[in-house]
Amino acid sequence: MSNVIICLFAANGFDRAAQGVSGAGQRLAADNGGRLHAVVIGAADDALQTALSPLAETITSLAFSEYQPEACLNTLTQVCRELAAHAVLFGNDTYSQELAPRLAYRLGGSAVADGIELLPHGDKLRVKRAVYGGKAVATIELQRAPAVVWLRARAFEPAEPREGVNAEIKHVMPEAVPATTRIIERKNEAAGEARLEDAAIIVSGGRGLGGPEPFEDLKALAAILNAQVAASRAACDSGWCPPTWQVGQTGKKVAPGLYLAVAISGASQHLAGISDAKNIAAINTDADAPIFKHCRFGIVEDYKKVIPLLKEKLAAAKS
Ligand SMILES: Cc1cc2nc3c(=O)[nH]c(=O)nc-3n(C[C@H](O)[C@H](O)[C@H](O)COP(=O)(O)OP(=O)(O)OC[C@H]3O[C@@H](n4cnc5c(N)ncnc54)[C@H](O)[C@@H]3O)c2cc1C
Repeated sequence: MSNVIICLFAANGFDRAAQGVSGAGQRLAADNGGRLHAVVIGAADDALQTALSPLAETITSLAFSEYQPEACLNTLTQVCRELAAHAVLFGNDTYSQELAPRLAYRLGGSAVADGIELLPHGDKLRVKRAVYGGKAVATIELQRAPAVVWLRARAFEPAEPREGVNAEIKHVMPEAVPATTRIIERKNEAAGEARLEDAAIIVSGGRGLGGPEPFEDLKALAAILNAQVAASRAACDSGWCPPTWQVGQTGKKVAPGLYLAVAISGASQHLAGISDAKNIAAINTDADAPIFKHCRFGIVEDYKKVIPLLKEKLAAAKS
């Protein structure tokens, strides 16, 4: 009885986070001699089914016209019981954060957030996660099965497809239940923008920019670099950019190849969101700003002098 279930949201497709969840699930199932099952929440497209088919034993598709957590939970609880789940893994998106703890409660299991490593320990699961804004790592042993864990995006390697094996596909209609919540409005992120979590290069602005206008300069720099623009909480809270740009402990966890922090001090809560970045670079007038302790490259200078120069040099190098 060591089955592992991965729960993925169809709307996200087989993004890097879903690949990591699949990889973590595959290795955990193999370590325990169990099987990997996938549950797709929402109508899965062909690309997602094709990607999951060689990885999982079964794919259960929970299709519905309007996502409703209560209906989803009832059906998910039933599917997890039927598959005798030993562990249930989610990604780190807001839907997963909403469902996972409630699912653990219903199944009589235990839950932990933001896992960065899974360590099977006898019939228990130990999970490593960052604590104190990324300053320390705690190892938590989940006492009651199933272990329900949502994983940090990109902390896990993708799964290895199996040759010539295809998952059995099941369709389950979530039962209608009286709704206790109602969706009042839905706002989609601007089309064409890559998700920050998937960005290879991020140019991020902080309170030191002093207002919304300099973000236009960061956008221009980002366009040359083929990068996404992000921000610190101070900049988002000031209303200079959308809250969806916030990186950090209470914002998005990103893992780009390059994270350029412009006029960001490097508070621990901000650093918690960029600990998986391969390279951090910073521009800051204060040589003692904490961000410089975490940087591979740093420029102690006013951003107003550096950004135009960077744009000019990079544009010239590109042409
Ligand atoms: C529970 C909790 C959760 C939080 N979650 C987050 C989170 O998810 N993300 C997050 O970012 N923060 C978060 N914070 C807030 C965090 O503690 C900091 O307040 C915030 O990160 C500061 O943002 P900042 O670096 O942009 O601003 P500041 O700390 O004010 O830094 C501005 C920097 O700009 C520099 N500067 C000024 N002028 C210039 C110039 N002309 N050129 C170059 N540099 C210049 C300054 O030297 C300074 O270092 C959280 C806080 C709490 C309590």
